[in-house]
Amino acid sequence: MPDSIPAVPQPSDTVRIVRKFTFEAAHLLPNAGEGHKCARLHGHSFQVELACEGNIDPQKGWLIDFAQIKQLFAPIYDRLDHHYLNDIEGLENPTSEILARWIWTQLKPTLPILSQINIAETCNARCEYRG
Ligand SMILES: [Zn+2]
Repeated sequence: MPDSIPAVPQPSDTVRIVRKFTFEAAHLLPNAGEGHKCARLHGHSFQVELACEGNIDPQKGWLIDFAQIKQLFAPIYDRLDHHYLNDIEGLENPTSEILARWIWTQLKPTLPILSQINIAETCNARCEYRG
């Protein structure tokens, strides 16, 4: 029998928040292989989820203002939305995987609490990237 009752652990201040965006874009995958459907020009309503992790600001009561995430992502979003992705430097082979890594490279310096990027081209499949 223990000498004392263990203290109830304090709840953590660590949270994970996710901001979702949708953009429309065309692409083709030049390395998919001859005859592969993704090698033909087509488009998607891409879904991007940006996850951030950290501690709740004790004064604000939040990790980060969702509007700040939107503001930081806006210049990247504008380069993608209604564009042909293959024309963008670094996205010559714009798979979801490469797109996730490309967004990470652009965004991480200004959003250090970024912890994960999810890219979905369809309702049924997505790429999850953690840097
Ligand atoms: Zn596609």
